[in-house]
Amino acid sequence: MIIMEKNVTVQQLDNIVNLILESGLRVDVLKGETKTIIDIIGDERKLVFDNLTLMPGVKEVQPLEKPYKLIVNDKNEKSNHVVKVGDVSIGGNEPVIIAGPCAVENKEQIFRIAKEVKAAGAHVLRGGIFKPRTSVYSFQGLGSQGETEAKEALEWLRSAGQAYGMPIVTEIRGESQAELVAEYADILQIGSRNMYNQDLLSKIGKIGKPVLLKRHFGASIDEFLSYAEYIAAEGNKDIILCERGILSAGKGNSYSRYMLDISAIPIIKRTTYLPIIVDPSHATGRNDLIFDMSCAAIAAGANGLMIESHYNPKDSFVDAKQAITPDELIKIIATTVDINMIINSSKIIK
Ligand code: PEP
Ligand code: MN
Repeated sequence: MIIMEKNVTVQQLDNIVNLILESGLRVDVLKGETKTIIDIIGDERKLVFDNLTLMPGVKEVQPLEKPYKLIVNDKNEKSNHVVKVGDVSIGGNEPVIIAGPCAVENKEQIFRIAKEVKAAGAHVLRGGIFKPRTSVYSFQGLGSQGETEAKEALEWLRSAGQAYGMPIVTEIRGESQAELVAEYADILQIGSRNMYNQDLLSKIGKIGKPVLLKRHFGASIDEFLSYAEYIAAEGNKDIILCERGILSAGKGNSYSRYMLDISAIPIIKRTTYLPIIVDPSHATGRNDLIFDMSCAAIAAGANGLMIESHYNPKDSFVDAKQAITPDELIKIIATTVDINMIINSSKIIK
C-alpha cells in the first residue's frame, strides 16, 4: 500500500501507477478527501519499496508481504513442526534440555559433563569447539588450534554424546568449518553473531541437518525470522530458533549480559511453526539467574532450554560466571517439567 502526499499531482500519481503496472502488478487507486492511497495487488516482492519511497508525491510505503513465508504458521495447519534428532523431539509437548559446557576443553571434561548432565535429565549435549570471542587473545576453542585438534575435539564430543545417549550440538563459526562439523554434529548451531551471515545460513541449510539458529542480540523478531527463512529456502525446515537475549537500553550498571526477550517466545510461536528454545546462560551471563529465567521461559511456552553446565564452573575456560552445576540443572529440570505440565493443562481448560 502506498500513501500519497496530500498535494500529489496527477503526473506524480501516474508515474507511480505506471511503475507498478510495468512490474506486472495491478493497482487500485482510492482517492479520498484528504489522502490518496494506491493498493498494490499481486506479488509485492517484484517491487523495490525503498525506491518507491523516494518518488515525488509519495508520503509512505507500507509493504504487506513479510520477508518470510516458508516458515509461517498456516492457520489451517494446526500442528507445529517437530524437529527429530535421534530419539529427541524438539517442538513437541515436552521441553527439551540441551546442556553442556560453553567450550570443549579436553576429553575428560566433556565425558564427565556428558555423564553428569545426562544423569540430571538433559536430552542433548552441547559443547563449543569453534568459539566466537570478542578478543583475539581469548581462548577460541580447540577447533581454532588446527584441523587435527578440531577433529579430535569433535570426536570427543560425538563419543561423549554416544556414550551417554545424547545427540550433540556445536557451533559452525564460519563457512570453512561447515563440512567438517556436519560430519560429526547432529544439530548445527549458528551463533548470535552469525545470524545475519546469509552465505553461512544458505550453506548450512543445504547440508540438510537440523540447525539451531540463535537470535542476534540486535535483531528484531522480523529480522530473526527473515534470516531463518534463508535456511528454509534451501529446503530445510528442521530449524530450531533460540532466543538468547538482546541489547537493552539504559544507563548505569548493567545487571545482566543481555535482556532476555520473554515476549518473543509466544510471538514467534504464533508466527511460525518452528520450535523456539531459550538460552538463559548467554542472556544473563549470571549463574544465579539461570533458574528464574528458565522457569519464565518455559512458562512463556518455550520448547526447551540450552544451559551451560560444568562440574566445576569456576574452572570453565569460557563463560565461567554463567555456568551452573549438574546439581542445579536437576532443580531446573524438575521445576520446569512441573511448569510445563501446568501450562499444558491450562491450555486444555481454555
Ligand atoms: C554459544 O552458545 O556458545 C554462544 C556463543 O552463544 P551466542 O552465539 O548466543 O553468544
Ligand atoms: Mn558460552
